[in-house]
Amino acid sequence: MREDLCCTVCRKPLAAARRLSAKYCGKKCKARALANRRRAENLRQKIDLDRIIRAHEHWFAIFRRELLLSAPPEAGGYQLGLWTGEKLHWFPSMRKNQKYRHTLYGQRSRYGFFTLSPFEPPSVPLEAEYQVRFVQKIPPHFELPAIVKTWRKRVPYAIPCGPLPFRLRSIARDLR
Ligand SMILES: [Zn+2]
Repeated sequence: MREDLCCTVCRKPLAAARRLSAKYCGKKCKARALANRRRAENLRQKIDLDRIIRAHEHWFAIFRRELLLSAPPEAGGYQLGLWTGEKLHWFPSMRKNQKYRHTLYGQRSRYGFFTLSPFEPPSVPLEAEYQVRFVQKIPPHFELPAIVKTWRKRVPYAIPCGPLPFRLRSIARDLR
């Protein structure tokens, strides 16, 4: 029996009528194939994240020290702004009514900022330069004005950040 005449999940031969286009014997196997693909994709993303974390431990430590040195005493967190061509879009990016987000370490956070202590490394969707700003420790966590000058920091990695209100591809190369 030829390989392509079997269901790719359960290996049962496909009914003659299905053979030309079908890969699965039925809905059940199609759903299982989809679940398998999702699981593989999640695993791949987790491995990618682990790799990014391991590769940037040193960068995290340096950035953390820079943040702590320039943070005003009332700061509890920071945000990173990406210039979209029209305005700064601030990360972490939370949609309206979004209750929580995932940190780089896979923990849930309900904050619309990265915490200073414990230090949360940034999750951003593009390897690029970002404007850094601090937010107040106490709710509602207002942004704090820059004390000395605008600080821009290059983040050397990118991770998927979910749907965004602008197109990542439209961000000019020279702004990255
Ligand atoms: Zn099957």
